[in-house]
Amino acid sequence: MGKVLIIGAGGVATVAAHKVAGNTDVFSEIMIASRTKSKCDAIVQAIGRKDIRTAQVDADSVEQLVALFNDFRPDLVMNLALPYQDLTIMEACLQTGCHYLDTANYEPKDEAHFEYSWQWAYKERFEQAGLCAILGCGFDPGVTSIYTAYAAKHHFDEMHYLDIVDCNAGDHHKAFATNFNPEINIREITQKGLYWQEGKWVETEPLEIHRPLTYPEVGVRESYLLHHEEIESLVKNYPTIRRARFWMTFGQEYLTHLRVIQNIGMASIVPIDYEGKQIVPLQFLKAVLPNPQDLGENYEGQTSIGCRIRGVKDGREKTYYVYNNCSHRAAYEETGMQGVSYTTGVPACIGARMFMLGLWNKPGVWNVEEFDPDPFMEELNKQGLPWHEIVDGDIEFNDTL
Ligand code: NDP
Repeated sequence: MGKVLIIGAGGVATVAAHKVAGNTDVFSEIMIASRTKSKCDAIVQAIGRKDIRTAQVDADSVEQLVALFNDFRPDLVMNLALPYQDLTIMEACLQTGCHYLDTANYEPKDEAHFEYSWQWAYKERFEQAGLCAILGCGFDPGVTSIYTAYAAKHHFDEMHYLDIVDCNAGDHHKAFATNFNPEINIREITQKGLYWQEGKWVETEPLEIHRPLTYPEVGVRESYLLHHEEIESLVKNYPTIRRARFWMTFGQEYLTHLRVIQNIGMASIVPIDYEGKQIVPLQFLKAVLPNPQDLGENYEGQTSIGCRIRGVKDGREKTYYVYNNCSHRAAYEETGMQGVSYTTGVPACIGARMFMLGLWNKPGVWNVEEFDPDPFMEELNKQGLPWHEIVDGDIEFNDTL
């Protein structure tokens, strides 16, 4: 049993809080702290447990975080705020002796660029402090990384080709909306594409490479090659991988809106002067777009996310596809949030559970594939994200190197 502090009160934090509150056998005390306390209080009210504490904190301030951690004394801090806060929260954990978990790697506010180097640089300090930091414990990164670890452990002697495929076949009936924080989401999608091939990174223009892929229970969807953070740690931890790519589906309507947003300068992160005030166009756009937390009510359809892997087992070529399909409606009925928040918040809760049970706890800074995938995979089936596997099926990626 242990004490957990959730930072953030958005869609992902709401789902994680519901799940953490339901795992009464491992979490003894819970606090939710975020920039806007009323949002934390609303989550507690929706859960219906008066013993969950709430607090206001600016997670950009190490000083405020340290004061909060010293007051509540959590065993584990779950960072479900934004990637901008990763380093301040890790720093505060080190100063107060708390363990750490997040779902997205650090990104500086003034540069649309993410990579693990900033957080991996904390490894020695966490080791010396005897503290554990669990990085990237959402769905992708998170479950996709654990799927890959599970495949490596049970299905392959060597993995050679990894394609992570992420389809959102849902319809929220809005002309344009993002499924998680619009600022983070648009920064990610408008970046150049990147994939790993024969020991090198290959860069593409944004959304340059695309192809139709068939998703279980969904059908064919155009899928676009993106840079995604789990590829960076997976090729490091599984050096036999010769090519690793990440694909995400987008509809034509979404892409048209995105193109217009970019063409008129609204995706820019460079501050401009507007009537004597500095504003960042993308942050202003976020303020007028639908809030991802409000999409759930009319969201139909499902997500389908998984890993398609080709490699060798017992001297023979083998393919393996492991995936989850998640219904937006079922997610909403359980937690009041849509499927994308659900598929991120549930793994964050399971990661915290793994930590509390002592199954995932070692000093240092770790990506989730560096822990035993088996107890996590077992828990996915119990906590609402069941997985399915297809062995030696057609994984559609037949272009080997
Ligand atoms: P939201 O924008 O809905 O929520 C972010 C929350 O963080 C808000 O409650 C916000 O406060 C709070 N916050 C922001 N800045 C601060 C600050 N300085 N101090 C305290 N609190 C702050 O985002 P999501 O819930 O959609 O996403 C949360 C995280 O999950 C993001 O890092 C995102 O990248 C990640 N993610 C990971 C995925 C994965 O599969 N691995 C998939 C989807 C998301 P306020 O309410 O006041 O604005």
